[in-house]
Order: sequence, then structure tokens, then C-alpha cells
Amino acid sequence: MPTTPQADRDARMVGEVIDWFATEARDLPWRRSDCSPWGVLVSEVMLQQTPVVRVEPVWREWMARWPTPAALAADEQADAVRAWGRLGYPRRAKRLWECAVALVERHRGSVPADEGTLLALPGIGAYTAAAVAAFAYGRRATVLDTNVRRVIGRAWEGRPLPALHQTVGEREHASSLVPDDASRAVAWAAGSMELGALVCTARVPRCDECPLAADCRWLAEGATGLEQAPRKVQPWHGTDRQVRGRIMALLRAAHVPVTVTGHASLEDVEPGQLDSCLESLVEDGLVRLVDEERGAYAL
Ligand code: SF4
Repeated sequence: MPTTPQADRDARMVGEVIDWFATEARDLPWRRSDCSPWGVLVSEVMLQQTPVVRVEPVWREWMARWPTPAALAADEQADAVRAWGRLGYPRRAKRLWECAVALVERHRGSVPADEGTLLALPGIGAYTAAAVAAFAYGRRATVLDTNVRRVIGRAWEGRPLPALHQTVGEREHASSLVPDDASRAVAWAAGSMELGALVCTARVPRCDECPLAADCRWLAEGATGLEQAPRKVQPWHGTDRQVRGRIMALLRAAHVPVTVTGHASLEDVEPGQLDSCLESLVEDGLVRLVDEERGAYAL
């Protein structure tokens, strides 16, 4: 097939990332050859909004306790939410439990390899389906997370940071970069994610250590625009997210229903905010009101 200078350049840059990954990849338990597809799936869900250092110990606990979807499905949803610990966004624990149940009911407890079948499972979006197909089954897939979007955006398109939402054009471009060979496609997926996580980081990219430095369009054009980019503000103290987290921590630690309103550990929270946070946790299916009279809740 005839090639173009751009296609040659793309292939060279992709190859540089693959070679870099071969020597620089972190040794993570879900990357080892003995990790099951279920282990890969759990890691991908945990890693979506939480950094590796926090995920690893919890992932190890989960795998020891629930080595298969059937093991998790046999326990209660509350056990999964409790074991989520402080990973944040606990709806993910609920969805993982639901996913385990669906795997048992629809797939005899195994994790499917096909992206479309994975997508039909609870809590599995396009990213996770592609990641599981690639990393658990070695299939060719377009794995496009924030890190990969940032690397492609900078090195190929000269943009300091990716837009808030993925576009069809962006996805098509990312797909066009995926090597035809499945094992190289998987190495590119893992390598570009790793490069974004370790080198081409959001605020302070370490271009002098980057295998793409000689080809990077953003660097060649002066590496500007990062200072003006709005910072992702992560409000925390006093926010609903923080209050929800505190309620979850209280209920996780308790083994009997707890009267949340008026509880000493939450007395600084304004009652209206406490009520609305409780309500939203109930709506999300993370918390149950077990005794209306006492206002007692449990996971
Ligand atoms: S050279 Fe710098 S900006 Fe470009 S891809 Fe590498 S780390 Fe990112």
C-alpha cells in the first residue's frame, strides 16, 4: 500500500512511543501476564478517576477477596461499596458490583473479549470496553483516555490541552494512529497512556525526557498556551462531594445502621446540605434508609 509522508511520520512517532514504553513501563500488577481479564477490568474502573498509588492497594485487596466476578456477585453491593475505601466516586463500586452480577447472569462469570459486548455491561463505557479488549485480550482497539488525548493533542495537533469533550474528529484521528498489528496496537495504547501519565503531564510536561520531543508539534511551535489554560479547580472543603464522602466514611466504618443527622462527626455540616447529600446518596443507590423513625442509614 502506498504511504504518505504524514503516514510515515505517524508510524515513526507511534513507534517511538512503543519503544519508550518497552523500557519505561511501570511494573503494575494488572499489567502482568498472570492478571485475569476480571483483574484488568477492575483496575480500569478504579483508575478512571483515581491515581495508581491509591488504586494499587485497594485493587490488591479486591482481587484477594473477589478474584472472579462470581465471587463479587455472591456478596452484597454494600460490601463492594465498603471495600471501595477512599478511592472516591463510590458509584463506581456499585456499578462494578452490578457488572459482576451481569457477568454471572449473561456470560457465566467470564469477562467477554468483544468491545461491543463489553459496552453492554453496567458501568462499562467506550474507554473501559476498549481498554479491557486491548489489555486483557490483546485486541486492536482505540483506547482514548485523558492522557492519550493530551499526548496526541500536543504532539500531533499542537494543542496545549485537549478540549473538555471528545469530538468525532479527534476519535477518528486517534483511531488512524492505531497500528494494524494487534500487539503493537496494545503497546501503543499502553505506551501513550503511560507517556501522558508520567512525562506529558497536564501542567508541567517533561519534554526533555520525551521520546516525541523531536517531532512534537506543540513543542516546535513554542509550547505556549498552557499558562492561559484554565486550571481544573477541584473545590473540596465544604462541598457536597466532601460531605457525601464523609457520610460514606461514617457508614463504611459502622456495622449497624447509623443515625446520620445529628451525628457528632457531622455536626459542622449545615442540616440542609446534610439532608440533600443523604438524599442524593440514596438516589444513587449507595445508601439505604433502614429506619425512618430514627433516621438511620446503612450502606
Ligand atoms: S515533547 Fe513535551 S509536549 Fe510534546 S508530547 Fe512530549 S512531553 Fe508532551
